[in-house]
Amino acid sequence: MTQEPDYFDIEITLQTLKYATRQLVAELDMERVVFHALHSIADFSNSSKLSLLLLNSDSTSADVAGILIDGEFSTPNEQISIRNTPLAEVLETKKSGIYDILRKRSYPIPTSKIFHTETKCRCLPLVGTNHKVIGFLNFEDKTSQIIHKNHQEILTVLTTLIAMTIENARLFQLATIDGLTGLYVRRYFDIRLKEEITRLKRIDSNLAIIMMDIDHFKSINDTFGHQQGDIVLTELASILKNTIRRDLDIPCRYGGEEFVAILPGTNQEGAIVLAERIRKRCEDFQFRSLSDDPIRVTISGGVASINSNTIITKEELFEIADKKLYEAKQAGRNKIRF
Ligand code: GH3
Ligand code: MG
Ligand code: MG
Repeated sequence: MTQEPDYFDIEITLQTLKYATRQLVAELDMERVVFHALHSIADFSNSSKLSLLLLNSDSTSADVAGILIDGEFSTPNEQISIRNTPLAEVLETKKSGIYDILRKRSYPIPTSKIFHTETKCRCLPLVGTNHKVIGFLNFEDKTSQIIHKNHQEILTVLTTLIAMTIENARLFQLATIDGLTGLYVRRYFDIRLKEEITRLKRIDSNLAIIMMDIDHFKSINDTFGHQQGDIVLTELASILKNTIRRDLDIPCRYGGEEFVAILPGTNQEGAIVLAERIRKRCEDFQFRSLSDDPIRVTISGGVASINSNTIITKEELFEIADKKLYEAKQAGRNKIRF
């Protein structure tokens, strides 16, 4: 049998595609979607310098959602302009293109690493539903050769998959994340707490929740205004997020100024230590002030926990934490009760 001159290894290609699909479709977290997207294109293109940009609503700038440089993934908090750049052409035509990398600015792959002189950049549009470009995937291409037709087709399949996954993650984010604080909403808390309790029935483990409420929050609003109140809520949410274990614990905004964290695999002692740490950090934190007055805020908290041998319903668990929170308020506030 004669082999085509530019033989395309269908076996490896399908494996790569299958792996990428599996990684992407199961993912709802935006940062992880970007991570898998960059890795799948890196696998496929053999490139070691890539960036994924998400187009902003004005269509003249994009956020750098992630870069993958020599195997290292990061999310630089950067915005870049696409006006009068090759990306504007990709946006316009919805077709991939190959361009010089602007070495001086390392555009459109922001990195301090040096690119080779002959290096080009391949820019792929991420086309979502309604044929709208939602972003770009750029990768360093040292060969600058014309891509085999099949290769190009597969790249299109991959970028379509990536665009859909990004849109999916955005919808999920919209439905589950509170707009002001970036914490999960109450509905999500209910679902996850139920799931975590169900898991306790299968595996021998612990589960704790911490219910928190800002002390005298009404007076912050009344004295300094609602806008100042919102700043406190946002910064308090950051303290919460930065104190719990990332990717494991689930921080939620339960109501106006009430927060709750689900702590899988954490026992009563561990939860108390964590709750105390959050309380202390709030007490010590100087919140951004819109006036000349310093803003000091404290919280009260209630802890409740179960293990595989002491399972109760999510309503019962929540009720215990809520009751403990009430006790903390009664005891004078700025306290944790358990
Ligand atoms: P306590 O120590 O007993 O908890 O006192 P408190 O003043 O914090 O409690 P209360 O429940 O009386 O007041 C909660 C206040 O939270 C009332 C409301 O104005 C404020 N609030 C709720 N949601 C928001 C919000 O999204 N933004 C702002 N700025 N305020 C909010
Ligand atoms: Mg309250
Ligand atoms: Mg309160």
